[in-house]
Amino acid sequence: MNKLGLHAFVWTANWTPEDAAMAIRSTAELGYDLIEASTMDLKAFDVPATLRELERNKLGITMSFGLTADMDISSGDKERTKRGEAHLLDAMSLARDVGATHVCGILYSAFQKYATPVTEDGIRGSIDVVRRVAEKAQASGITLGMEVVNRYESNVLNTARQAIAYVKKVEMPNVKLHLDCYHMNIEEADSAEAIREAGDLLGYFHTGDSHRGYLGSGSVDFPSIFRALESINYQGPITFESFSSAVVGQPLEGILGIWRNLWEDSRDLAAHAKAFTDVQMKSAREALGRQRR
Ligand code: MN
Repeated sequence: MNKLGLHAFVWTANWTPEDAAMAIRSTAELGYDLIEASTMDLKAFDVPATLRELERNKLGITMSFGLTADMDISSGDKERTKRGEAHLLDAMSLARDVGATHVCGILYSAFQKYATPVTEDGIRGSIDVVRRVAEKAQASGITLGMEVVNRYESNVLNTARQAIAYVKKVEMPNVKLHLDCYHMNIEEADSAEAIREAGDLLGYFHTGDSHRGYLGSGSVDFPSIFRALESINYQGPITFESFSSAVVGQPLEGILGIWRNLWEDSRDLAAHAKAFTDVQMKSAREALGRQRR
């Protein structure tokens, strides 16, 4: 059974004890199985409060991270690569300490718009770092998801096919693809086909519509997305991700290009996403079950 998750930034971009308590309690109240927490500032993340609230609300956790330009492990630059590796290894310690099952996001390059393509040397360096990070994650039973994102957020993995090749080169059983239908809608010729191509290598999934607002209110073809997930018997987490400057501030607002808000009411958005996802999954199971009969 897929665990359904909610990105913490639907509630808050900070993680003080009060923020953690509010986000975790609210996510659990809506019937989600897990919260995806994210931070650039590892030291500002309150571990004891997180553990206490997860336990109190019987909620699971996953984490996502990104790298800044001066920590870019795909840059081919020794110093930056070294800083990126150190950050990712510290991030694995944090993920282990809060009991995260998965760590996902743009773990393989900086999280930014690039002006030039990645080099072969840069990709090799990135793969070597990710392999060492994965070894540390494996010791804590953590699966890594390499998130395939659109061209404006990285120049390394923009399509599922690129990510399949990358993950195969990392050669670690706990390194998988993380696909996101918002990004796939921009880059893939056929999102459902990309999911089927990923197959057993898919380890994490983000839902989001074409404008990152309410699920189903954009142009993403969700029936075909959920049928594809069902057809490959995907069992990993499915996490809803949506951003509004009503919650997130800079620098994320600028990197993601949030110039207009599609929602202000976090709870209404998250409750709707949960109901929408439940219905889509049920419909996909019925559709494929009927096909098999
Ligand atoms: Mn995503």
